[in-house]
Amino acid sequence: MLVFTVFIFIVGAIFGSFFNVLIDRLPHNENPFKGRSHCDFCKKKLAWFDLIPVISFVWLRGRCGYCHKKLSWQYPLIELASGFLFVIIAGYIFSEIPLFAGESVKCQVSSVRCLVNYFSLLLTFSSFLVIFVADLKYQIIPDELVLSSGMGALLYQLTMYAGNLPQLGYVLLAGLGACLFFYVIYFVTKGKGIGFGDVKLVFVLGLFLGVTGVVVGLYVAFLTGAAVSSILVLTQRKRWKTRIAFAPFLLVGAVTSFFFGQQLINWYAAFFS
Ligand SMILES: [Zn+2]
Repeated sequence: MLVFTVFIFIVGAIFGSFFNVLIDRLPHNENPFKGRSHCDFCKKKLAWFDLIPVISFVWLRGRCGYCHKKLSWQYPLIELASGFLFVIIAGYIFSEIPLFAGESVKCQVSSVRCLVNYFSLLLTFSSFLVIFVADLKYQIIPDELVLSSGMGALLYQLTMYAGNLPQLGYVLLAGLGACLFFYVIYFVTKGKGIGFGDVKLVFVLGLFLGVTGVVVGLYVAFLTGAAVSSILVLTQRKRWKTRIAFAPFLLVGAVTSFFFGQQLINWYAAFFS
């Protein structure tokens, strides 16, 4: 199964190259499918051998092969992160890969339901990865990615709970509740605390995590957000007034809640009983 895992990693890294394009083009309303990749500095069009994930960056020692200016670490980091993401989700879903042993969601890679399940989680988490960096870098959450993550989350719920209407109603309610809660914050702070992109994003998080899951996710988001903001202010890297992108915290909360939500709840319950 090592060959299978390495294969998934390489496919993930190749998709990571595309995610880098999405990160830099979607916030500026540029078509990610139009025009070849070029160097940010000398605008030279890049050949296929300049675009091999991670390897080109290491081979050229992090510089453009034409003008030799230093390239951003974002490129290899996102490619690596995407490779690991594809492998971690495969380990979460496929019983053939011995990660997350004993998870009840695990299924055989040969079943169609299992592959759809994998695809839905890939769509959701890949969109999260791009939103994370786009919001951090440009303070913009592209609508296309909120939509794609929402479609992934809905597909995931449909494959997990097909025909279970109460469960589907429950996750829809979680989405609407979280959305309303954030709209109130947005309205009261007049958009200074959080952006409208965050309001749309939490709908997806509710849909993806359900009521309990989204409460845990938002709790982790506010906690980490407050901690990181305080550290930035104390070290005088930011002032209280400057807006700090909130989507990265929401997504850290969502991912923590998805993988470790139940453990966190158990831990809290044991702590306070
Ligand atoms: Zn160049």
